[in-house]
Amino acid sequence: MSELRELYQELILDHGRQPRNNGVLEDANHIKEGYNPLCGDKLTLYIKEENGLVQNIRFQGEGCAISIASASMMTQALKGKTIIEAKKIFELFHQAVTEDLNDADEKKLGKLIVLSGVKDFPMRVKCATLAWHTMSAALNNDATIVSTE
Ligand code: ZN
Repeated sequence: MSELRELYQELILDHGRQPRNNGVLEDANHIKEGYNPLCGDKLTLYIKEENGLVQNIRFQGEGCAISIASASMMTQALKGKTIIEAKKIFELFHQAVTEDLNDADEKKLGKLIVLSGVKDFPMRVKCATLAWHTMSAALNNDATIVSTE
């Protein structure tokens, strides 16, 4: 188990240091800001939605390794997915970071499961879910700035 944890940590650190899909997306049609005042994590999420698909997704932000890694992995997981799939993955991810998932659901999450370790640290759950709440609000065209508080 400790080896698995180390592997998880490595993946989080890697994404935290070298976030994927990082930067402005010029032709985004959903743009949303999210803020986690407890930790100071901030991000802007850009989504290009076409025909019910997340065609492209990028983010810009600053914050702790968990918040950046989660945003980075989220963009990888959601690119090319339908909006409905994206919302389902969010639901599963939210469960994974707050309670125990069954094996079948864990498999559906793929690499994202590495972030489920935050479950034991309620403050960190907000870091890990910031990008996801922001994504959900962006797709719902919610006008307010997302705050985890
Ligand atoms: Zn944080």
